[in-house]
Amino acid sequence: MSFRASVLTLHPEMFPGPLGVSLAGKALERGDFALETVQIRDFGVGRHRMVDDTPSGGGAGMVMRADVLAAAVDSASPAGDPRPRLLMSPRGKPLTQARVRELAAGVGAVIVCGRFEGVDERVIEARGLVEVSIGDYILSGGEVAAMVLLDAVVRLLPGVMGNARSGETESFETGLLEHPHYTRPAEWEGRTIPDVLTSGDHGAVERWRQAEAQRITHARRPDLLSD
Ligand code: SAH
Repeated sequence: MSFRASVLTLHPEMFPGPLGVSLAGKALERGDFALETVQIRDFGVGRHRMVDDTPSGGGAGMVMRADVLAAAVDSASPAGDPRPRLLMSPRGKPLTQARVRELAAGVGAVIVCGRFEGVDERVIEARGLVEVSIGDYILSGGEVAAMVLLDAVVRLLPGVMGNARSGETESFETGLLEHPHYTRPAEWEGRTIPDVLTSGDHGAVERWRQAEAQRITHARRPDLLSD
């Protein structure tokens, strides 16, 4: 079974967006994954299809209603749907390559995109939404975050990446940041390519890349080495 994503959003016109282009776009065309959007407003309340209301206890902004979101989730993901239900949220566990791999190995994901101040806590609990963050900053909505997550997942799906091996040394896959890359011309603005890379000695190239990956990770992301 291929990977099926259902994205619940107030702005379905944002999709497929970047997921319709290049590697992901070709994969979408081939049917390597399916992408469905669900307009949350279709489940809105009353003549005006209201999806949000003022925060209980006061304060700025609006909150997405639990009943509306639950109806949208139930429609996209009826009981028994094996896919994880995710809510893009700055309060979630930060997304990692390990989590991306785990998702790519599964059958898909149901992804809720928040807007405004966020969503009523009760729907998170009642529908078992797992909050996922893409980093410590605030976006205006969950859509771009959902695209980030899906882009990372889709490139790992079978058949999507031209050279399957190129994923293996990628930053984070080995617990390290990746080594530097070079290509022709051999000299550019007076800068040359490290001799070892043109030596033809594959063992030496491998050792150099490993040492560079260690050096760069140590300098830039010592947190990755600490556990
Ligand atoms: N008031 C909230 C932020 C709301 S931002 C708070 O302080 O936590 C509006 C929506 O954008 C969120 O509901 C979420 O779906 C999305 N969003 C914002 N930042 C995000 C991030 N870093 N990762 C994932 N989703 C994010």
